Formats: sequence, C-alpha cells, structure tokens
Amino acid sequence: MGMLWVLAFGLAPLLTAGVGAAAWQHRRDNPGARALTLTLAGISGWSLACAWLLAPLSAGLRSVAYPAVFVCVGATVVGFWALSRLLADPRWRTSRRTALLLTVEPVALAVLSVLPATADLVFGRTDLTAPTGTVHLVGGPLFLLHSLYSYAFIGGSLLRLLRVARGGAPLARRQAVVLLVSAVPPTVGNLTMTLSMRGEGVVDLTPLFFIVTGLIAGWAVLRAGLLEVVPVARDQVVETMTDGVLVSDSEGRLVDLNPAARRILRRVRPDAPADPIGERFADLVGPELLAAVLPDGPAVDGTWASGHAVVQVTDGVWLDVQTVPVGGRGRGRRGGRLTVVRDVSAEQRREADLRRLNAELAEHVTTVERLRAALAEEAVRDPLTGLHNRRHLDRELDRAVAAAGPGTGAVAVVAVDVDHFKSVNDRWGHAAGDDVLRSVADELRASARAEDVVARVGGEEFVLVLAGTDSRTAAGRAEELRARCAARVHAVPTGSLGLTVSIGVAVADAAGDRGGTVLARADRALYAAKAAGRDRVVVAAPGAGDADGPMGPVADVRDVFSAS
Ligand code: GH3
Ligand code: MG
Ligand code: MG
Repeated sequence: MGMLWVLAFGLAPLLTAGVGAAAWQHRRDNPGARALTLTLAGISGWSLACAWLLAPLSAGLRSVAYPAVFVCVGATVVGFWALSRLLADPRWRTSRRTALLLTVEPVALAVLSVLPATADLVFGRTDLTAPTGTVHLVGGPLFLLHSLYSYAFIGGSLLRLLRVARGGAPLARRQAVVLLVSAVPPTVGNLTMTLSMRGEGVVDLTPLFFIVTGLIAGWAVLRAGLLEVVPVARDQVVETMTDGVLVSDSEGRLVDLNPAARRILRRVRPDAPADPIGERFADLVGPELLAAVLPDGPAVDGTWASGHAVVQVTDGVWLDVQTVPVGGRGRGRRGGRLTVVRDVSAEQRREADLRRLNAELAEHVTTVERLRAALAEEAVRDPLTGLHNRRHLDRELDRAVAAAGPGTGAVAVVAVDVDHFKSVNDRWGHAAGDDVLRSVADELRASARAEDVVARVGGEEFVLVLAGTDSRTAAGRAEELRARCAARVHAVPTGSLGLTVSIGVAVADAAGDRGGTVLARADRALYAAKAAGRDRVVVAAPGAGDADGPMGPVADVRDVFSAS
C-alpha cells in the first residue's frame, strides 16, 4: 500500500511539471504563465517531497523532505494567489520587492525546521521516525503559524475568485468558477487534516488534489484563454485610440480618462486642472457641451440618459460626443457614464469648405448662364437701335405664321421704311442719321405691344409682327403708327426734324402661308406705298401671292377705311 502512494506521489508530478514547462514557454505572451509555472512547480515539488516522505528509507533520510515541503507549499499558495489576482486584473504585476518578501516565510520555515534549536517549534509531536508509508504529523506552533499564513493566501485567493465569478468580465467569470471549483478539494482536505492535527498514520492527499487544481489551472490559462491577450489588448486599445474615452461615476465625477481624452480636454479647456480625475464632469466640459450631449440628471429608470451630438466647443473645434450609461445594474443602483469624444474639426472644416465651394460654383454657374443668355440676346439684337434683328425676325415670323389658325387668329406683318432718309445723312452726316434712326426705333418700340416683334431689317427699314391681328386691325394699327411717326420730332445738329414713313401691311391667312412669303407681300405693299407718294399705309390684298405679279393687288389704307 505504501509503495502505491510513493508511486502516485512520484509519478503525478510528471503531469504538472509537463504543463509547467509548457506554461513557462508562454511567459512572454501570457501574463498568467509565470504564476501558473510557479504554482505547478510548487505542486510538483510538494508531491515529490511527499513521495520521498513515504519512501522506504531511513527516518533520518526521509525527514530531509520536510523543508522541501514547506518551500513547495509556499510556492503553491503564492502562485495560486498570483493567478487569482491576475484573473481579476490582467495588468497586475508583482514588484521585485514583493516577490522577495513572499519567499521569506517558506524559506524561513524550511530553515527553522532543520535547525536543532527550532525544529521542535516546527514539528511539535510529529513522529519523524514513524514507519514507512505513513506520516505522523502533529505540528508545533511555527507549523500552526505557517498553516495560518498559507490559508490567508488561499482564503484571499478564493475570495477574489468569488468576486470575479460574481461580477467580472464574462470570460473571466467562467474561468474564476472553474478555478474555484478546482481549488475546493485540496483546500477542504488539507483544512480537515490540519485542524484535526492528527495526521497520525494517514497520508496527506493535499498535493494530489492540488495536482488536479494545477492541471485545471493549466488548461484554463493555456488552453481556455484565461488571462489571454484580450483584456490586455482591450486596455491598450483604450490607451492608444485617438478617440477620447472618459468614465464618470454615479455622482458625475470623472474617474478615468485615456490619453486622447486628456489631449482633447487640454485643447478645449486649457484652464482645466492638470489631473482632472475626481473633478465633476459638468465643471470640466462646461455648460454648452453638457447641455448638448448630456441631458441633465438621471433618466426615469435611475440610470443616466444616453446622448449623441456634434458640437462646436470653441472656434474651429468640433467634437462628436457620445455618452452611454455604464454599470449600475440592479434595482435602484445608478451607475456611471462612459463618454467617447472624437475631434471632428477637420471633417467639419472640409464640409464647410465643400459647402463654400458649392456656393461659389453655383454662383459661377449663374454668372455663366447670365452671360450666355446675354450673349444669346445680343446675337438677336441690332446694336444701333437695340431692336431685334433680321435673324430673330425670321425665326419668330416663321413660328407665328405656323401657329396662326382659327384658334390664335391671323398674323399681320407690317413693313416700315423711312421716307427720304438718305437726305438726313446727306445733310447732317452719318452720325446724325444714326441718332434719327434710334429716334424712329424708339417710336416703334413705344407703339408696340409686349407680344409684338419689332425688328430692324435694313438701314432704315423695320418690320413688326403682330400676332393674333387680322387685316383690318393691322391696317388700323399701321395707320396709327404712321401718324405717330409723322408727328414725332427728331433732333438734328441744327435743330429738329420731322420725318414720315411708308408702311406695307400683309396678313398670313391662307393655310400653307410661310413667313417669307407674307413678308414679301408686305414689302410689295410698302413699295406700293412709296410709289403712291410715301407717308401712307398700303395693305396687301388677302392671299396675294407671286402669281399676282411682282406687286400683287394692293389697297391704300385710306381707301380701305373710307370704303368701310
Ligand atoms: P425712300 O424714301 O425711297 O426710302 O428714300 P431713302 O433715301 O429713304 O432710301 P434709300 O434706300 O435711297 O436710302 C437709304 C439710306 O439709308 C442709304 C444709306 O446711306 C442710309 N443708311 C443705311 N444704313 C444706315 C445706317 O446704319 N446709318 C445711317 N446713318 N444711314 C444708313
Ligand atoms: Mg429703304
Ligand atoms: Mg427710305
């Protein structure tokens, strides 16, 4: 039976040592690897020492395993304690000093256990000469102290694991439960044995239980992602990200902020305290920003309300601020607030630039459109008088004639030529002639309706297109125009001058009439007016085409009106 225990205690460490070696390989990339290695080394040594204690050797030889047990137990509990701390906070590290302090107790006990003067204080009534295969352990006061010391560590570790299991991050929570469960058997077993202080003839199975604990811990650390890079990476992300992250507590006091948040805060509030931790969030960010993103006071359910806004905090500085409630689960518990701030000034400036460019572009387009329209208008204007020109007349005349019909009525064409105009040039020169032409044009413009086309088609020749006007009405308007022209006084260098005009009128009425043919008829009527002695209106007979000869039948407007 005794040999079986020796074998069990002697071979089990092969497992833990193997896992420990694997953990050691990960000491750089896994924060828990060193603690795990220490734990597994402790367990392995402890188990081997137990095998030695039970081995069929002389009592003196066996007793040298005791100091090893004390050192290994120390390594086991400290390693386990470190693991639990790391699970709660993967950033936790021991200082060299702490590490050194932690070695004091096990080493001291090991030394005291071999010194003849103090050995009794450690071993009490333990029978170091008991027969092979069992241990008669009834420790002295130092052993009791050692047990209390070790249990303080184990107890602290278990409490910490309990806390993580209840409120830690989801991943850590699961692993804390696994570690807790794995640590229960050795703890309970060892506690029972130590409290009874009657290890007489029994075998202390604690190291074997701890081997299970160590293997489970090894699996959790190395395989199941315990203390994996995730929490560490998450921390680093927050530290290195360009977005500012601020955490405030239930009272609205700042409890944490990352470097980016410090930078933004310095920029926005140069007067803020150098270390803003503990300051009221509302005081730090100022009322405008607070009002924009943080609806004051808690929401109905007792938590802070969420908010999101883009606000201009100072000249040229725009912040995108998002805030959400965090923590505070459970009834009536108000948690804190997490605020993420991003400097969007550059984007806002670009957007503003884009808007300005857009407005400028629109303005340019309008200008170009205006110029184009002016140019188009200029192309159909006569530069001397500002009346429309021949090109415009042809287009409008064709359109009006094509549209003429029963619905819109007839279209009248009125051709006007100034009588004896050449003599104006001859007497006062070309420039004076131009002035007179402008004056005549003014008269024509003044007598026209808005819908009439008034064009200058040659030197002192003008054409009016009167839409929706029948022959009789056109004759009347032409006569009126003639009379007004005759009555108008034009300025010339030596005084003033009266001039007359001759007018020919033709009306598009027959289906198939074209602008050009109607204009030609009006011209012939004008020619007839000239021939008849000038200063008169002649109306071309309806339908008078080329077949009627170069002149066609014409009637002096005076005859038309006197006949009716
Ligand atoms: P009629 O009564 O037969 O129409 O005689 P008229 O002198 O008016 O006719 P004619 O065709 O013989 O002369 C027209 C003159 O108009 C000839 C030309 O010198 C003048 N003229 C043509 N274009 C312009 C112009 O732009 N400015 C000036 N000042 N004179 C022009
Ligand atoms: Mg002429
Ligand atoms: Mg003339």
